[in-house]
Amino acid sequence: MSMYKIIETILRFIYPSRCVFCEEIIALGKEGHICRYCDMEINYISYDKEPKLYVFEYDDITRFSILRLKYSNKRQYAKTFAKMMAKKFEMIEHLEYDCIINVPMYKKKKKKRGYDQAELIARDLSDILNIEFEKENLVRIKNTLPQSKVSFEQRQTNVKNVFKVLDPDRIEGKNIILVDDIYTTGNTLNECAKELKQAGANNICYFTLAKTSKKQNL
Ligand SMILES: [Zn+2]
Repeated sequence: MSMYKIIETILRFIYPSRCVFCEEIIALGKEGHICRYCDMEINYISYDKEPKLYVFEYDDITRFSILRLKYSNKRQYAKTFAKMMAKKFEMIEHLEYDCIINVPMYKKKKKKRGYDQAELIARDLSDILNIEFEKENLVRIKNTLPQSKVSFEQRQTNVKNVFKVLDPDRIEGKNIILVDDIYTTGNTLNECAKELKQAGANNICYFTLAKTSKKQNL
């Protein structure tokens, strides 16, 4: 056993890997951060296709995990989520993409939270898929209420004209993967896409970790 492997094993013993969904300890020697039980319980989505891709349904199991990533500083979850997205992406027929962009958080809000969860996921996804991460070119210029805090009717106006592309030259003619954590009404992603299109983007594919089902009002 190599020194590296020994140290890794000791660290795994002291800081065991936990499932990102149920937080149960995952046995030593098991790969990944999803336990077998959760892997069976998750409602993976298979009916989707470009230009809208999702990994799983936003339900009780997945919701609490995403909430911990967002509000409980579980930023290490981003890597596991990015791996799940990459696995999905590699399984399907898809276009060639030039870059990955995240739906951005308002700058002050990111500073307060310390990170932007969609950015973390997008970065890790970019590393795994080896597709360039287009950093801080699409920005949020207004702070808005979270979409979950406004009525369905107000969601479109809530995000209207809140995004801006700073350097259109880097967007022109590009095929872009637009990443966010949750797809609900699509208003936020649509608004980002509108800006990217105006900057000359070619194809844009929405890629979110979770998708709410129509009956949920989240
Ligand atoms: Zn689990």
